[in-house]
Amino acid sequence: MARNPIQFQKGLSLIDFFARFGTEGQCRAELEKLRWPDGFRCPKCGGKQFCRLEKRNLLQRSGCHHQTSVKAGTIFHGSKTPLVKWFLLIYLVTQ
Ligand SMILES: [Zn+2]
Repeated sequence: MARNPIQFQKGLSLIDFFARFGTEGQCRAELEKLRWPDGFRCPKCGGKQFCRLEKRNLLQRSGCHHQTSVKAGTIFHGSKTPLVKWFLLIYLVTQ
């Protein structure tokens, strides 16, 4: 019987997990990288230029002024639970 490479891949230690995803900013940056691997794209117009509204954790497109969150349209959309807790939950369920 063939070995399933997904099932037997090397895990991530709890220490390494917290080093990579221990803060809300790290989780937000990771989610942003996963959502827009080639850089931010406005969901409304597809434009690339944007600015960050840091206090509200929003990205605003420079051209059309559309505001979006890194969580919008993901499973985290509308959740008030911090990403750091979601990431830990996902880690604990999957490891
Ligand atoms: Zn736009």
